[in-house]
Amino acid sequence: MIQAKAYAAQTPETDLAPWEFERRDVGPHDVQIEIHYCGVCHSDLHQIKDEWFPGVFPMVPGHEIVGKVTQVGAHVKKFKAGDLAGVGCMVDSCQVCENCKDGLEQYCLDGNTQTYNNLDRSGVPTYGGYSNTIIVREEFVLSVSDKLSLAATAPLLCAGITTYSPLRHWKVGKGHKLAVLGLGGLGHMGVKFGVAFGAEVTVLSTSASKEQAAKDLGAHHFVVTSDPEQVKAVKGSFDFILDTVSAVHDMDMYLSLLRTNGTLINVGVPTEPYSVQPFSLLTGRRSMAGSGIGGIAETQEMLDFCAEHDIVSDIELIDIKDITASYERMLKGDVRYRFVIDMATL
Ligand code: NAP
Ligand code: ZN
Repeated sequence: MIQAKAYAAQTPETDLAPWEFERRDVGPHDVQIEIHYCGVCHSDLHQIKDEWFPGVFPMVPGHEIVGKVTQVGAHVKKFKAGDLAGVGCMVDSCQVCENCKDGLEQYCLDGNTQTYNNLDRSGVPTYGGYSNTIIVREEFVLSVSDKLSLAATAPLLCAGITTYSPLRHWKVGKGHKLAVLGLGGLGHMGVKFGVAFGAEVTVLSTSASKEQAAKDLGAHHFVVTSDPEQVKAVKGSFDFILDTVSAVHDMDMYLSLLRTNGTLINVGVPTEPYSVQPFSLLTGRRSMAGSGIGGIAETQEMLDFCAEHDIVSDIELIDIKDITASYERMLKGDVRYRFVIDMATL
């Protein structure tokens, strides 16, 4: 077994603290990565606090992982020691169902294996990226370009692919009016991709203070959703809304901003079910849809697109000792736009 160091939550009631544990040995199809940086996703906070479902504790969160390959198994073809590599939200899937064969491992009919807060296919808990090392089967390891800042690449592994995938699936681009709802970790990547794909992008935000920052990200318009006049002005105007909000919000109000045949694509995961008036959908034949991360091939496509177009996350690099304070700031929407842990501080 391989000794690993990490920050873990021992229970939903306790803060993250240093913890040591064992990871499996590097098997013939495995890649071992020395983790250099790990992004801090709102999903980490939802899960260590048991906000979605009872979790697997102790829990080592983190699914925006980048670092350097240190060891590979005998049958590994794509990676060698010294390569830059990344791992996102999944570390395994059945590989044989119709969705896996279509490159949609995130929708594996047998359930994908999540990077943490899950049991792997042999029943052993998985532990995520707030750690010094991780061992992952080759198929779930991504190649990372050395052209981009490594720390700012980390959030692409979740926030990046979660916004890239739906925009590609719904073919959002030139001629479309796209609204990005919530300007946090996911939202700011949604703005960057929406702009890169040629859409006219509006940010819908509760934070008036983010207007200039949104424009700096490339957004064409900014609407403060607490201002009824500003909201009225954009009623019935968007082809798509990419909803990245992490808390319960007024879905009927946001659906009313879609034009006829418009689609609200939900990627946020609030802790309570949505309530939606049927009229909000049937008026204007509107749709409400959802999307979860992205498959492995599409994640690689996104990373390659980012390397080609010089797209990374806007980050604040933190010491792992400041993780609890960083969660508090994230809850207040006070992060521009992703905290990334410098794993050298572990
Ligand atoms: P984040 O950085 O905290 O951003 C969320 C943003 O939502 C905030 O910055 C804020 O933006 C807005 N917001 C917060 N509370 C709100 C409220 N009550 N009403 C309206 N807007 C509010 O979080 P994140 O890391 O981007 O994650 C966002 C959500 O996506 C989380 O629920 C996360 O679990 C989920 N997620 C889903 C997937 C997936 O596969 N679908 C993948 C990753 C994450 P403003 O200040 O601009 O209003
Ligand atoms: Zn995430």
